[in-house]
Amino acid sequence: MQFKPLGRTDESIPVVGLGTWGIGGEMGPDSSRDEAGIEALRLGLDLEMKFIDTAEMYGAGHSEEVVARALEGRLDRVFVASKVSPRHFAYDDVLNAARRSLKRLGLKQIDLYQLHWPSSKIPIAETMRAMEKLVKDGLTRYIGVSNFSVEQMREAQQSLSREKVVSNQVEFSLIHRSVEARILPYCQKEGLTLIAYSPLGQGKIPRGQGSSFKVLDEIAGKLGKSRNQVALNWVLQHDSVVAIPKAADMDHVKENADVAEWKLGSEDCQRLAKAFS
Ligand code: NAP
Repeated sequence: MQFKPLGRTDESIPVVGLGTWGIGGEMGPDSSRDEAGIEALRLGLDLEMKFIDTAEMYGAGHSEEVVARALEGRLDRVFVASKVSPRHFAYDDVLNAARRSLKRLGLKQIDLYQLHWPSSKIPIAETMRAMEKLVKDGLTRYIGVSNFSVEQMREAQQSLSREKVVSNQVEFSLIHRSVEARILPYCQKEGLTLIAYSPLGQGKIPRGQGSSFKVLDEIAGKLGKSRNQVALNWVLQHDSVVAIPKAADMDHVKENADVAEWKLGSEDCQRLAKAFS
C-alpha cells in the first residue's frame, strides 16, 4: 500500500481507504447484509486498506456499529474517520455526537472527525470550538471537513485557534471533476488532503458506456488492469488526493486494493482527462 501525508501532520494514511456508505444494513441492523459488509471490510483491512471512512448519518449510526465489528479483535493500526452531521453542529451537540460515535465504534479515539456538510444555521466558529475541545480531550485526533467550498475551508481554518483543518472530503472521479477548478488547487497549496468520495461515480464508472469509456477500456487493456482500477489510479495521480471507494463485493474489494502499487503514465492521465472532459 502507498501512503500520503494527512494534511501537514506527521501522519500518513493509505491512499486507498474503505468507504462504508451502504455497507451493512442501510436502515439499521440487517443480519445477512451486516455479515457481508463486515467480511468485505475485514478483507479490505487484510489487503492493507487500513483507513475506514464512516459517519453518524450512515444507516442512522449503524454503519459505525458495522465498522466496530469489522475492527473487533484486530491489533493492527487502522485509521478511522467519522463525521458529525450538520444538525449536531451546536457546541454541546458536537461533543455528544462524538461520544455516541465513539461508543458505536467501540473506540476511545476517532482519528479524523469531519464536519459532514457545511451548515447555514450554526456559526462555524461555535462548531470548531467544540471540534478543538474534542482534540484537546483526546477523543479525536484531527479535524476535517467535507463538501466545503474554498471560502468555507478558509473560514473553517480561521475559526480554529490551535488546530488545523487537515482534509476536505469531496466528490472526485473521472466523471465528476468540479473540484479541479478551485478546491483541489486550494488543498494542494494550503496543505489539506483531498479525500475523494464516490471515486467510481457511485457505480456509474463500472457500468459506463460511450466513447470516453472506450478510451478508459483501451488504456486498461494495454496495462492489464480493470477500468475501475485505472479510474481509481487516475484520481490518485493528483497530489494530495486519496480515495475511499466503497465495495461490498469481495472481488471488487480485491480489485480496489490493487490500485496503489503502480502508476498511470502522464500521457495516459492526460488522455483520460481529455476523454472525460
Ligand atoms: P463509489 O465508491 O464511487 O462506488 C460504489 C459502487 O461501485 C458500489 O456499487 C460498488 O459495488 C461499486 N464498485 C466498487 N468497487 C468496484 C470494482 N472494483 N468494480 C466494480 N464495481 C465496483 O461510491 P460511494 O459509495 O458513493 O463513495 C464511496 C464512499 O465515499 C462512501 O461509501 C462514503 O464512505 C463516502 N461518501 C461520502 C460522502 C460525503 O458527503 N462525505 C458522500 C458520498 C460518499 P459493490 O458495493 O457491489 O462492491
